[in-house]
Amino acid sequence: MLLKHTPKELAERSALTINPAKTCQPVGAMYAALGIHKCLPHSHGSQGCCAYHRSALTRHYTEPVMASTSSFTEGSSVFGGQSNLLESISNIFALYDPDIIAVNTTCLSEVIGDDLTQIINRAITDNKIPPGKKVLYASTPSFKGSHVTGYANMLSAMVQNFAANSGKKNNAVTILPSFIEPSDMTEIKHIAEELGLEYIMYPDTSGVVNAPMDGTFRMYPKGGTAKEKIIASGDSRLALALGRTGTFQAAQLLDSKCKVKPLIMDLPIGISATDAFVDALRKAAGVTVPESLRTERGQLVDVLCDKAQYLYGKKVSLMGDPDTVLGLARFCADAGMRALHVVTGTPAGAKWERGIREIAGGGVTVKSGAQADLFYLHQLLQNEKPDLLFGNTYCKYIARDMDIPLIRCAFPIYDRIGHSYVPLTGYRGGLHLLITILDKILDRQDRDAAEEEFELVM
Ligand code: SF4
Repeated sequence: MLLKHTPKELAERSALTINPAKTCQPVGAMYAALGIHKCLPHSHGSQGCCAYHRSALTRHYTEPVMASTSSFTEGSSVFGGQSNLLESISNIFALYDPDIIAVNTTCLSEVIGDDLTQIINRAITDNKIPPGKKVLYASTPSFKGSHVTGYANMLSAMVQNFAANSGKKNNAVTILPSFIEPSDMTEIKHIAEELGLEYIMYPDTSGVVNAPMDGTFRMYPKGGTAKEKIIASGDSRLALALGRTGTFQAAQLLDSKCKVKPLIMDLPIGISATDAFVDALRKAAGVTVPESLRTERGQLVDVLCDKAQYLYGKKVSLMGDPDTVLGLARFCADAGMRALHVVTGTPAGAKWERGIREIAGGGVTVKSGAQADLFYLHQLLQNEKPDLLFGNTYCKYIARDMDIPLIRCAFPIYDRIGHSYVPLTGYRGGLHLLITILDKILDRQDRDAAEEEFELVM
């Protein structure tokens, strides 16, 4: 009902955000931290912040997401959170025994100006960190950026704190994925393994937030990248950073700190981007593409050819994380669909906007940042209605209001299941995405077909 009041007329806004198309930085930082084995994310702020971060991840993954908090009170807000964090570190190692605590800051601790480097050094000199254990932190002020910014900052903190150049190169290629689902991380590893590539990938949340139910609760699931592998990434011969917004900063740091040359690529979503990824891995491994990957590609091409008539010229609007929507825009272009609008709440920069325009053509409306919100998206859709909307759960209100089929493929998804098990990336992810798109289009066609045009075979 509230959406009925969204005006069609667009007005430039510089300060107001209405229904943000993003969540807050620590959510992404926590998600990245979960991708290190035996790492406990810790939110340096109030209990309310941590409760929100955990619930966002828990509801999206339908898995219990573990994290601790400095549990700020009014006193901490005035005098700073040092004593809370020092006590937290002691308690966490004593009670929960992680190998690593990954601290993210919050709006409050950032505004106070807590010096996390000094506090962690104090924890070291006070012997609060047991031998062999580690506390790292990422600055994640949520009054700027988004969960993708927080993810990128925590990924950089991993490089900063662990990656080491021993002076002797190993044979591995380091893969740094942007904020993607655990199913996508599995798919990326699958492609690397099919090519016989020696690789190190972090973070890796597969087997952590989509771990199987076997009747045993594990505070630290079996998945996640081992700390030793992150250290060894400093000796790798190449770094493939998949998704510029989420990984560029970490890839640059790995280069400047450890002299590991980065190759910044788009996420392998759709045929052309997956081809580029496979080609980069193939060159790195010095092999030809195996039959198994050719088969996966061929199946995707087959379905695309079989059903191209239902896809060609379809108008789509895309909302989500910048690296993912760029991949989706390319996927849609490969399939003959036309992107009308591409919106992300993450500040993604001019290069990202140019990239979208190059893929989708001059007619696309592109916007990123705080004012690229769901209110703005709804206005755009009122001015030109697409055939399909891609976005997160919050888009369901707009989709219902405007009777547009919604394809859920952005963070967060609270009302459907499957995203953490079925990928978007790679040829297999592309096939799944294509089938999902076709189902939506054909269901709509069936629903709206006149009696005499209602077909059995489509
Ligand atoms: S936006 Fe700031 S105050 Fe709100 S939950 Fe995130 S870190 Fe806490």
